[in-house]
Amino acid sequence: MLTELSKLKQGEPLHQDMRIAGKLVGNQRRMEIRNPFNGALVGSVPKATVEDIRHAFQVARAFRSPLTRYERSRIMLRTAELLRANTDAISDLITAEAGLCKKDSLYEVGRACDVFVFAANQALVDDGQVFSCDLTPHGKQRKVYTLKEPLLGAISAITPFNHPLNQVAHKVAPSIATNNRMVLKPTEKTPLSALLLADILYEAGLPPEMFSVVTGDPAEIADEMLTNPDVDLVTFTGGVPIGKYIAGKAVYKRQVLELGGNDPIIVMEDADLEEAATLAVSGSYKNSGQRCTAIKRMIVHQAVADEFVDLLVNKTKAIKYGDPMDPHNDMGTVIDARSASAFEAKVKDAQQHGAKLLFGNLRDGALYSPTVLDHVPADCQLVAEETFGPVSPVIRCTDIADAIRISNSTPYGLSSSVCTNRLDYITRFVRELQVGSINVREVPGYRLELTPFGGIKDSGLGYKEGVQEAMKSFCNTKTYSLPWN
Ligand code: NAD
Repeated sequence: MLTELSKLKQGEPLHQDMRIAGKLVGNQRRMEIRNPFNGALVGSVPKATVEDIRHAFQVARAFRSPLTRYERSRIMLRTAELLRANTDAISDLITAEAGLCKKDSLYEVGRACDVFVFAANQALVDDGQVFSCDLTPHGKQRKVYTLKEPLLGAISAITPFNHPLNQVAHKVAPSIATNNRMVLKPTEKTPLSALLLADILYEAGLPPEMFSVVTGDPAEIADEMLTNPDVDLVTFTGGVPIGKYIAGKAVYKRQVLELGGNDPIIVMEDADLEEAATLAVSGSYKNSGQRCTAIKRMIVHQAVADEFVDLLVNKTKAIKYGDPMDPHNDMGTVIDARSASAFEAKVKDAQQHGAKLLFGNLRDGALYSPTVLDHVPADCQLVAEETFGPVSPVIRCTDIADAIRISNSTPYGLSSSVCTNRLDYITRFVRELQVGSINVREVPGYRLELTPFGGIKDSGLGYKEGVQEAMKSFCNTKTYSLPWN
């Protein structure tokens, strides 16, 4: 498919089949992918049958990878090289299917490269442990060793639309690093980037049985992805409702659930307001506000709120949005017109509950303007639930206790940002915010692709992703003991 990407420039659609253990599998039942900005046909993919899914998992379960750590590492470095060498064409595909602007899609390809480089390095690290057994009065002259093994069954992976390439990279790279076999179902909204990545991995030398991509209507195939007997582990990134459905459906399978967020930026009275407003704008609008860790609430100390809001509005006005292919734009569309209408309605509802709209809330199809509101009540729908779009709602707080109370008041607990230099505040935030990550003077989304990342409460079960943690959750730990010390 890599060689076909040039078709996009000519406006020719990419009609693709599934990749099941490297074979192209298609049928007559097809789903179309349309450009969210102009409605053009970007391509189409088949609707898998339940039989297709069963076959993919059967092949995956039966295969045992012979790859050494060195070979896995080489394949992933080669993958990163291929991604890097084709960055512009790949970013065009992401932009065409997701409506993300070129700045965002170029950044995303770079992130995916990082994922493969980190996984390539991590594959080389021996992850075994050694325990001496003469540690207690009833100890023995022995040692216990641990060995990380790939799962016996296959991994079932399901990904969302907001990072069509990088979310897939975060599933498949740790799977390869640990010699597992994965069947991935990307979202039906942006499946083409996942199919492209499969081709790049095959070209880099991955045994095709180690990675299959199936496409289709979740109403027909999702349950099979969760209950198939050849599956040992389900790894899912997406929204809370489907995450909770999976938790109930994938019985006696290991589950890694990376779900929605409602991340705050908390701005205290001593903060550098210029810096805080810059972080607020980038955290709120990057990727059209469609990041699990996008800033979805701005909790600002009342003593500095007026000044902060002025800066926020001015910086928001400077955001250029429109045609996602225009390399000068900072924001493209959101995923579809339906989502944009939902943001519009939530903003109107917030206004009815007393919020003041200061900028934006303009919509044209899937194009939705960056939007700022002040005096937002902490319990209105716009901020009590996850709003997955470029909206900056300011909630004023009275002191640190109030900031922590508001931050913890939603069911989510993914990440957060705090803007202050006071160590007493910082230590209290680190202890009391009910989240998976706290970034001081950085956006909530700041991370390395290697470092542990994931949420608590409704945002996830506490298992982390990031290459290193994902590798741990994709393995069985076997212990063996030997009679020497
Ligand atoms: P979504 O939950 O609507 O869909 C995610 C995936 O689930 C898609 O592939 C979809 O086809 C599939 N699906 C649909 N029905 C299913 C079912 N019954 N069983 C199993 N799978 C099913 O999410 P989305 O709208 O694509 O993505 C946005 C959401 O993802 C936001 O809530 C965002 O916060 C979250 N997200 C979380 C993280 C994280 O790391 N925590 C990262 C990115 C996005």
